[in-house]
Amino acid sequence: MSIKENIERVERLKAEACRRAGRDPSDVLLVAVTKLHTTEEMNEAIDCGITDIAENKVQEIVRKYDEVKPARWHLIGHLQTNKVRQVIDKVCMIHSVDSFHLAQEIEKRAAQHDLVMDILIQVNVAKEESKFGIDEEDTDLLIREIAENCPHIRVKGLMCIAPLEEDPEDARPYFAEAKRLYDRYDVMDHTDRVDFQYLSMGMTNDFQVAIEEGSNLIRVGTAIFGNRDYRSEEK
Ligand SMILES: *Cc1c(COP(=O)(O)O)cnc(C)c1O
Repeated sequence: MSIKENIERVERLKAEACRRAGRDPSDVLLVAVTKLHTTEEMNEAIDCGITDIAENKVQEIVRKYDEVKPARWHLIGHLQTNKVRQVIDKVCMIHSVDSFHLAQEIEKRAAQHDLVMDILIQVNVAKEESKFGIDEEDTDLLIREIAENCPHIRVKGLMCIAPLEEDPEDARPYFAEAKRLYDRYDVMDHTDRVDFQYLSMGMTNDFQVAIEEGSNLIRVGTAIFGNRDYRSEEK
């Protein structure tokens, strides 16, 4: 299957899930996850209508950036504070903010570039020890700290990763929990600094379930580009 056919298939599955959930397919943003795929493949996807791409590593964004056609870049992986400055002027949104320490560094670099960075708070709904993301109970405080101290950051919503399960149905309760949390902030008055718009959840294996539970941004890699070759990963 070609990238074009794969994208068409993902769009079809996305539309079906939206129909089941009584939502408009245009309300769910498809972000193509391009980690470990070539810039040729990325440009092919962009030629097929992909507008948003995501990487999980700063080095990979920096390495590929100039070879890729215009698109909106998202950072979805864990971000170390010492790497923020390398991507601050390249990405449109950072999905993986899980500490005030990281937010402060984003604030500093965004201010230097005179820009406002959109971020999502990564929430560890499954409470997995190995996963990044903050506990649900701590989101209030983090959002408040950012709103009060970081004029160059806009909190645009939440991101979560469900535990990897064979059956996507097993992810449903985690997605439902993330949606409940999201709705708590979505009903708050939108301000310059806290303006909920995105609930980023759902990957190749579980994006239909995620949409049914309220996701409006899905991050899909394998279903578009095929399996990743981790042997090619740069050290
Ligand atoms: C790799 C990755 C994805 C995409 O995973 P697929 O299963 O290939 O669709 C989505 N989100 C994050 C945070 C990732 O690291």
